Amino acid sequence: MPELPEVETAMRGLEARLVGRTIVGVAQHRADLRFPLPTALPERLFGCRILRFDRRAKYILALLDNGHRLILHLGMSGRLLFDGQGAGRHEHLTFQFDDGTVLRYVDPRRFGMLDLVAEDKLASHPRLADLGLEPLDPTFDATALKKVLQGRASPIKVAIMNQKLIVGVGNIYACESLFKAKLSPLRPADSLKASDFRRLAQAITTVLRAAIDAGGSSLRDYVQTDGELGYFQHQFEVYGRADEPCPSCEQPIRTMVQANRSTFYCPACQR
Ligand SMILES: [Zn+2]
Repeated sequence: MPELPEVETAMRGLEARLVGRTIVGVAQHRADLRFPLPTALPERLFGCRILRFDRRAKYILALLDNGHRLILHLGMSGRLLFDGQGAGRHEHLTFQFDDGTVLRYVDPRRFGMLDLVAEDKLASHPRLADLGLEPLDPTFDATALKKVLQGRASPIKVAIMNQKLIVGVGNIYACESLFKAKLSPLRPADSLKASDFRRLAQAITTVLRAAIDAGGSSLRDYVQTDGELGYFQHQFEVYGRADEPCPSCEQPIRTMVQANRSTFYCPACQR
């Protein structure tokens, strides 16, 4: 499943190719993805120029020159492919642009979504309204993190994966961030001290940015071919490394299950 860094990478790929381009054709091959597609989508997109791309959580937001936003989520298996050949029965939407560029939305499991809303309705859109802090926003820091975690007795790892509190910290990035911040994944969120929040906020930003930087170097591959790129397994310090030596203290990395997800951590370094 594409995580925040992969979505950011995909968004930058779209930005590089499509800002300033006009949509001259949309072929819609089915009525719905996870949700019904907007009515008369091809007609409503025809002739629109793309002014800008933004990202909120794992939603890609394209601003059109008619004041509307195209909202796109890749779901579990969605991919955006430029040019090339048709992708067969899993290609649900095909966009054509004025410079000949073709963009295909391919999604075998169809958990993705696409919607079209007026810019002033974007913040209240049902999929976006309840989203938590954006960890790559310049305003994200220890103070903001402390504010949303206050009074939360749930384990810190479960809390930072709650999209209503903070977005984009998937399982891998939660494990890696807590290792970097030297915090036990079992600590109740409201037991963190000011210095813990500082380390954690910084660790989350660092881990996500490192993943984006790694993904950015293979941006062409990511956008054009394989949604799995963007994960750079060798860079993980604890995730997927049960029984291997901790990179810091060399004691074995442990694993456990929290809220149905595997947690990897070093019991010696993380307190
Ligand atoms: Zn350790």
